[in-house]
Amino acid sequence: MCHSGRVAASQRQRSGCVERAAGGVCKMSVQGEVDTIVIGAGIQGSYTAYHLSKHSKTLLIDQFALPHARGSSHGQTRIIRNVYAKTYYTAMMTECYQLWKQLEAETNTELFRPTGLLVLGKEGNPSFQTMKSTLIDNNVPMTTLTSADVSKRFPAVQLPRGVSALLDKTAGILYADRALKNVQDLFRRFGGIIRDGEKVVQIQPSDLVTVTTTAGIYRAKRLVITAGPWTNKLLNLVGLQLPLETLKITVCYWKEKIPGTYGISKGFPCFMRINSDPDVHEFYGLPSNEYPGLMKVCYHSGSRADPDERDVSFQRPSQDVELLRDFLSREFPGLDPNPAVVESCMYTNTPDYDFILDHHPDHKNIIVGAGFSGHGFKLAPVVGKVLSELCLGEKPSYDLSPFKICRFHLKSVL
Ligand SMILES: Cc1cc2nc3c(=O)[nH]c(=O)nc-3n(C[C@H](O)[C@H](O)[C@H](O)COP(=O)(O)OP(=O)(O)OC[C@H]3O[C@@H](n4cnc5c(N)ncnc54)[C@H](O)[C@@H]3O)c2cc1C
Repeated sequence: MCHSGRVAASQRQRSGCVERAAGGVCKMSVQGEVDTIVIGAGIQGSYTAYHLSKHSKTLLIDQFALPHARGSSHGQTRIIRNVYAKTYYTAMMTECYQLWKQLEAETNTELFRPTGLLVLGKEGNPSFQTMKSTLIDNNVPMTTLTSADVSKRFPAVQLPRGVSALLDKTAGILYADRALKNVQDLFRRFGGIIRDGEKVVQIQPSDLVTVTTTAGIYRAKRLVITAGPWTNKLLNLVGLQLPLETLKITVCYWKEKIPGTYGISKGFPCFMRINSDPDVHEFYGLPSNEYPGLMKVCYHSGSRADPDERDVSFQRPSQDVELLRDFLSREFPGLDPNPAVVESCMYTNTPDYDFILDHHPDHKNIIVGAGFSGHGFKLAPVVGKVLSELCLGEKPSYDLSPFKICRFHLKSVL
């Protein structure tokens, strides 16, 4: 997709922008000055760059040739929903739905498929109750269902005693890979520049920030770091470490014993099965859609992994698959309890599962967007908007106090 970026890199080398000094040592000259550099072309960086490109000359850099499947934004689908236990996310969702719709219109592609989403949890679960009141308070179309209602409406779901459901009628599926490509295409249409296949190896903070990649040197008035699970590796270059945990997530698809049982065309919704922890839902699933006859059901956690060693140092997938197998045998008996397809993705969790959207504490022209804790895709249009506002020195459209860096005890690495 970003072929043009790679060609441009090789053209620069031919034209002598990357100079080879006497003795064969590679000496790189500064290749250009832009208003803003965004590091990381996942969904958050791409959306931020897209918003910024409307106001300023913006360069988006990624270490890998795009598209790639090593970070957090790849894969065909993500859930989009209004239902949240924390009301400030629901407040952002209204605009997110509008901006996703606008992206659909501007790129003439279907990105959203309504399905509804069932939140399955115990009536006494505080998180379940907060989700219910958040939906009511925000006038989100919803229904509550008893476990008998669920069995009647969705006979292939077997809920244990005491578990009931909320149906967020506004929820659905976002076509993730397609959405990411479209945001990047639109960014380019607004004059944005993408350099993919260039890893950032050095950052020199100053009024004019200098960013050195494996292929060149760039300068900008402002820098945004949206590097997903690599965030702390980049922040290390600018004297900051955040309490981020990077997890490898095992993404499993399960075969329907009778094709169509949990099918999108049969009106089966997405679901979240929450536990008694106030913030964490344990399992989630999407109706069979992208791989015919296979339903995507995942465990909302995984094993700690360095993103550069995601496929080398993993011990836990079998444990995650065991948990899923056990859960599905009990509550989704219409699925074969052996995964038919297994893929991988990364979460970058903060201790409170809230995002980080803030200035670098010491360098106000460096902005950080990180810690999307396994629920950031749907919110990317607004995340991109507020990161661009922070970058341009504008008043953010939303209260960003839950997302500030100062809520953590910071370790200086300088
Ligand atoms: C299995 C799974 C299911 C999910 N389900 C949902 C869901 O249903 N709904 C939802 O809303 N969210 C969901 N999420 C979360 C969502 O996908 C993420 O929050 C989001 O994709 C994070 O995007 P990002 O841009 O921060 O990170 P990434 O997509 O990882 O992007 C970071 C980019 O930075 C680049 N980079 C890093 N270091 C450098 C460097 N040194 N130089 C240059 N480039 C660099 C990387 O190559 C990468 O492309 C899910 C996530 C996973 C893994």
